[in-house]
Amino acid sequence: MGETSARTHVVEAGGEGPLLVIHGGAGRRLHEMTAAQKAETDEALARALEAGYAVLEQGGPAEDAVIAAIHVMEDAPCFNCGRGAALTLGGRAELDAALMLGDGNVGAACGLTTAKHPIDVARAVMERTPHVLFSEPAAELLDEWGIEQVENDYFVTPARLAALEEWKALHETGDDHPETRHGTVGAVARDVRGHIAAGTSTGGITGQQPGRVGDSPLCGAGTYANGQTVAVSCTGTGETFIQEVAAYQVHARVSMAGEALPDAAAAMLAGVDARGGNGGVIVVPASGAGVVGFTDGAQMNYGWAHGDTRVTHE
Ligand code: ASP
Repeated sequence: MGETSARTHVVEAGGEGPLLVIHGGAGRRLHEMTAAQKAETDEALARALEAGYAVLEQGGPAEDAVIAAIHVMEDAPCFNCGRGAALTLGGRAELDAALMLGDGNVGAACGLTTAKHPIDVARAVMERTPHVLFSEPAAELLDEWGIEQVENDYFVTPARLAALEEWKALHETGDDHPETRHGTVGAVARDVRGHIAAGTSTGGITGQQPGRVGDSPLCGAGTYANGQTVAVSCTGTGETFIQEVAAYQVHARVSMAGEALPDAAAAMLAGVDARGGNGGVIVVPASGAGVVGFTDGAQMNYGWAHGDTRVTHE
């Protein structure tokens, strides 16, 4: 693990060959997680790694590994995506997701309120339409795409309702700790053929205005992949990641400025930090070790699988 600057931290992940790196969000928390919450998060990260890496071990494509890992996290209420997502000011879940492959194929959706696995909608947009991004696709369209749908209540957990109430109370006092409101999950993978893919799935930020969309579903901001360089998934204060065009910036630094991957990730995060944001990034390159990076003070849930090695950390 290296501390590339006083305000960003970068960890190398794995090496050549099939590689999966995942994150379960980064940010500062109002409260320390309890031992039980830590154990739950760790167990879910480990299951996501197993599900995703099994695909790579069987010779499956990078995008299938990304989706398998994200499915596990979308089902686990401890992450800000799918069930257990952060709630809007109106107490509802509005979910966003994106999937991008190294060959440039990309699909994304925002404002989802019934799709059990938002990452499946991203894939459907990529595979079944000539478009890149859908906002609030109609239930009939989701049916047509074979997307499993649930009532919005399915996503709403007691913990997230309590977090919303707590945030509202703090917000009234003007002390709302914006850096504590987010989470998000993501996965980046390289398969046995050397193809790479990136996916991100989120509930946004606690107490966001209905209709607000962050960086996660935006190609180049929260999610990006280019087969010549990197697959990237971000988490953090979405507005600052959009302003930094964060995921694309990592690609641009590597491909155009010739920066080493850890330096590129750290420099992008330094830009986020300079704008008053915080969060993290995971990157898998077309060859070599991946990278996990996060801003100073952010707690980052992440994991990676490579060969027989499995690492999870928070
Ligand atoms: N980046 C996400 C958003 O702004 C939130 C997060 O990563 O926690 O919607």
